[in-house]
Amino acid sequence: MTKKIFWQDPYLTELDTQVQTVNGNQITVAETIFYAFSGGQESDHGTIGGYEVLEAKKEGAAIFYTLEDTHNLKVGDNVKICIHWDRRYKLMRLHFAAEVVLELVCQRFPEVIKVGAHIAQDKSRIDFEWSQNISPFIASLQQEAQSIIDSNQVIISAFSDEENERRYWKINEFSQVPCGGTHIKRTAEMGTLRLKRTNPGKGRERIEIYVSEP
Ligand SMILES: [Zn+2]
Repeated sequence: MTKKIFWQDPYLTELDTQVQTVNGNQITVAETIFYAFSGGQESDHGTIGGYEVLEAKKEGAAIFYTLEDTHNLKVGDNVKICIHWDRRYKLMRLHFAAEVVLELVCQRFPEVIKVGAHIAQDKSRIDFEWSQNISPFIASLQQEAQSIIDSNQVIISAFSDEENERRYWKINEFSQVPCGGTHIKRTAEMGTLRLKRTNPGKGRERIEIYVSEP
């Protein structure tokens, strides 16, 4: 198991830890701040022990990092993990914006079925099955989401089941939402929100989400 410090402190950009296993160019570490793709949130970019991480993969409770072939790390080596903070912070803001919009959609239209989400550095998107067109509701959804942002309330992020690494977040407007992503501390960090509807295919609706600096 890899101890996930990115939950405890999602704002940490450097961490000293030890190499736990080495298998060719794939390693694990005792503790990590380097997020691995999951729940639609892309992996971080950065280095471990000075070597570029080419891939971060979550398997059960472990995270496997693929490094450049030239690495010479051994089990027990002390290493520093560094992540690209600009990218991570954008991912965190867009991730939370996507979650808020999805909760608003589900609250207003209980019949929608969520089919996917993707959070990249420049925009996030949520996809759902729905027989109607979301266009007439985009402006009011954007307004509602923005008022949640502007309320600048604290976002609670915690374990619902620590042993099985199940996490949730909570704000006033919604009941607990299960999520193992990395979360900002306050809603205002998202900044100014913009929503755009696109049509990914019959019976499906997509909302693209953009945020600009607070
Ligand atoms: Zn989340």
